[in-house]
Amino acid sequence: MRVLHWFRNDLRLTDNPALLAATREATELIGLYVFDERWFEEGIHNGPRISGYRAQFIWECLEDLKVGLASIGGQLIILKGNTVGLIASSFTEYECDFLSFTKHVGHEEIGDEKAIVSLLGSDKVMSRWGHTLVDIDNLPFTIEKLPNIFTPFRGKIEKYHTYPTTVESVQKQFSPISGMDSPGLSSFSELRIQPSSIDERAVLQFKGGEKAANERLRHYTWDSQALSTYKETRNGLVGADYSSKFSPWLATGSISPRTILEEVKKYEDEVGANDSTYWLIFELLWRDFFQLVALKHSHELFAEFGWKGYARDWKHNFGLFKKWIDGTTGDPFVDANMKELKRTGFMSNRGRQNVASFLVHQYKIDWRWGASYFEEMLIDYDVASNWGNWSYVSGTGNDPRKDRVFNTKLQAERYDPDGEYQRIWLD
Ligand SMILES: Cc1cc2nc3c(=O)[nH]c(=O)nc-3n(C[C@H](O)[C@H](O)[C@H](O)COP(=O)(O)OP(=O)(O)OC[C@H]3O[C@@H](n4cnc5c(N)ncnc54)[C@H](O)[C@@H]3O)c2cc1C
Repeated sequence: MRVLHWFRNDLRLTDNPALLAATREATELIGLYVFDERWFEEGIHNGPRISGYRAQFIWECLEDLKVGLASIGGQLIILKGNTVGLIASSFTEYECDFLSFTKHVGHEEIGDEKAIVSLLGSDKVMSRWGHTLVDIDNLPFTIEKLPNIFTPFRGKIEKYHTYPTTVESVQKQFSPISGMDSPGLSSFSELRIQPSSIDERAVLQFKGGEKAANERLRHYTWDSQALSTYKETRNGLVGADYSSKFSPWLATGSISPRTILEEVKKYEDEVGANDSTYWLIFELLWRDFFQLVALKHSHELFAEFGWKGYARDWKHNFGLFKKWIDGTTGDPFVDANMKELKRTGFMSNRGRQNVASFLVHQYKIDWRWGASYFEEMLIDYDVASNWGNWSYVSGTGNDPRKDRVFNTKLQAERYDPDGEYQRIWLD
């Protein structure tokens, strides 16, 4: 039996429930990844929806995946274009028996899933949930009843839910497929997107792939033991280890949150559990929360007044927006963060909260412009985490407090007291 696995945000062989289930009976395996044509179109901020940073990172993930698949006799095809059309035509062209994929939470992505199932027929398609700590089928509430506020969500999960364990890696050997000599894109340049080189001042020179993800996990836990002080350092701005930096690998699925959880548990057993080791899992639960928020609110997550319908008189002033993007607002803390984002594709969580708050509360600019620019620039862009956090900060989403405004001057004094961070990016 020949399986076509549609890789999306699950670019890994380890703890990949959909891939494992689909390949149990398979004798031949083809992986397929599509750089969706919509990512190259203009977002509402007047720029593309993907930058060179993220495209390059994904490409590195795919190169790593290709090597992993080859080692078990599988292969990977990389395409660019219309996802639904390319999945359906590849399924037919390569005479596949079965399609598998990991479920997504994004409105657009779920639309693709539905279209593909209706084209191929549900008996030819198998999908599994696989990118959160929680098990979607055993939540202590229905998705419609997902608490709107994080704290009761966490309370219910911690009290009534058990996280599933990881599943084993796909290790069986597949038969090589003859007559399929590396179709699809073979080099990054064929994507026709300008690669962006990460500035040397970046907190980390992120490298895509399952191997690099596991190296980062090992570094943050066993090697540096930075995990043991995570709760105290996580609001930092300078250096590689103030926070885990797992986000780009989580966003691409090069590592699963359950793999991280199990490593943290081992670390707690051997090195010691404390508030910091718990706090990393707490943050991964925030990630889960936003995944479920996206599932619950679907297209309403992207609405001008959010799923809450909180009407505001947003400005659509491109001049001000451009100042924000370029880091020329005159607010040094905001400007330093925006320059970091532009030159590296990354920004700390503290920075993201401040620049988002500044855009929507100070400049009063449509929050969706900011979210759309972040979508383009972030190396760790994830539809649920990005749009969920933006709607949270803008007051149109899950923040129970209305109009929470970050005072960027006080924030700079507190989190960058001697100005070290601002000097790095403003000099
Ligand atoms: C406006 C805004 C936009 C954001 N956009 C994204 C995005 O597109 N992709 C993304 O992964 N994160 C996003 N975040 C959340 C957060 O800023 C990043 O996950 C975090 O900064 C990544 O760095 P880290 O891996 O070192 O985080 P750590 O502090 O080490 O946290 C560990 C992991 O927990 C998860 N996490 C932590 N905080 C959050 C949060 N607030 N929401 C969701 N998950 C969280 C992430 O997966 C992260 O990798 C956004 C936050 C804001 C305020």
